[in-house]
Amino acid sequence: MAELDRPVAVVTGANRGLGLATARALASHGLHVLMTSRNAEAGAAATERLAAAGLDVAFHPLEVTDAGSVATLGAFVRSRCGRIDVLVNNAGVLLDGHGLVDRNGSSAFKASLDTLRTTMETNVYGPLALAQEFVPLMRTRGYGRVVNVSSGMGQLADMGGHWPAYRISKAALNALTRILAAETAGSGILVNAISPGWVRTDMGGQNAERSPEEAAAGIVWAATLPDDGPSGGFFRDGVALPW
Ligand code: NDP
Repeated sequence: MAELDRPVAVVTGANRGLGLATARALASHGLHVLMTSRNAEAGAAATERLAAAGLDVAFHPLEVTDAGSVATLGAFVRSRCGRIDVLVNNAGVLLDGHGLVDRNGSSAFKASLDTLRTTMETNVYGPLALAQEFVPLMRTRGYGRVVNVSSGMGQLADMGGHWPAYRISKAALNALTRILAAETAGSGILVNAISPGWVRTDMGGQNAERSPEEAAAGIVWAATLPDDGPSGGFFRDGVALPW
């Protein structure tokens, strides 16, 4: 198939929460958005809802920890879209304790190494695998925006206790962001990490400060940076954060 004539974005974990709001916002911005989800039923249903609202979206399954699933998605994008302009690494897990609002059981001194492994596989190795799959395709057109959805909880400048697996994974994702940015410098590809703030989703809980729509605006900012925009940075709502 010939290359699509509008920019293509891939969003991971797009069936709910921040990923869904990001897919809606990017599609409203005029991009063709490939919404991906490890839960095919939920992902297809979410995609249908946005399509019914007139947005240019499509669905493809993706389990970010499965190399075969990443490769299948890559083959689909190359054959059906011929391009990828934006990759939003949004899918993530918070498995220590009981979410952001409950610290019980999330001490580093009681952390399960299995929880750390699973968290790293999803929050760090997944984004790396997706970058390995899609940055080469971005290079063919000399254009790309990679947005790694990180967290203030991964910020070394403000590192506190509890949620060790999540904090370590997001600090590692920030390091990965800088490594990818260094290796793509001058290629037209901009790689940045963003902190969405504390967001009302299943992960953030309903007491969180921000709506998914407010937080998604900061992702859209990083996904649509001009050619002279920053790369290798950490931002919240377009404002640089210390690492
Ligand atoms: P949710 O828990 O609401 O959604 C997480 C999404 O990630 C779901 O779509 C989930 O799929 C998907 N996902 C998890 N693991 C995998 C996997 N292995 N493969 C594919 N998809 C997967 O969280 P949010 O929307 O709040 O979080 C989105 C991102 O924002 C995360 O990276 C999170 O760390 C980050 N973030 C969130 C904050 C908040 O306050 N909410 C604060 C700071 C950062 P499924 O439905 O199948 O479980």
